[in-house]
Amino acid sequence: MKRSEKGSVTIEATIVVSLVLILLFGCLGTLLTIFVDTQMEWAVQSASDEMNIIGIPFTDRTELLGELMRNKVIKQIANRSIDNFVEVHEVSLENVNGNAINMWEVSYDYKFVSFADNEKIHVPYKSGNENDGLKFETSTVYITTYGEKYHIDECFHLRKSKFPIDLDEAVKKGYEPCKNCHKNIESR
Ligand SMILES: [Zn+2]
Repeated sequence: MKRSEKGSVTIEATIVVSLVLILLFGCLGTLLTIFVDTQMEWAVQSASDEMNIIGIPFTDRTELLGELMRNKVIKQIANRSIDNFVEVHEVSLENVNGNAINMWEVSYDYKFVSFADNEKIHVPYKSGNENDGLKFETSTVYITTYGEKYHIDECFHLRKSKFPIDLDEAVKKGYEPCKNCHKNIESR
């Protein structure tokens, strides 16, 4: 074998190895994307189920509902140990068909290199009816012993003290929305 032929064999081998590596990582990336998407669907569905149990009417403060749902989704993601792979982008409640169907729209980004960089999940939200006579938990926010802000359930500011209060009551007493758990509301 001549020197030049040996050289071309090495180049060919390099190309083949590169292609195999690209395919391998491509496959792993695709598998990871499928795995993460599946886990995300379960996470969003579970979070939505929790919201359905609370049964908050759609018309009642959709921003607050969005924040509650976002916190539940983030908790579900952590429970499923996929918080290193996804970042929740936006959580919103959409009304479809007049008042007939309410849908959650949860969009998220992948934290790893993937073919798609943004994905959306839609699940129905079974809200309660204000005329049901139930005491809806929407109107419940939480205040602390010394703080001047009100929080939604699961906010980290509620580590030391946590007292439920009706939102209207909290506003009346001069409490303001917490900047951590009411981010979306603040920016509007
Ligand atoms: Zn808070």
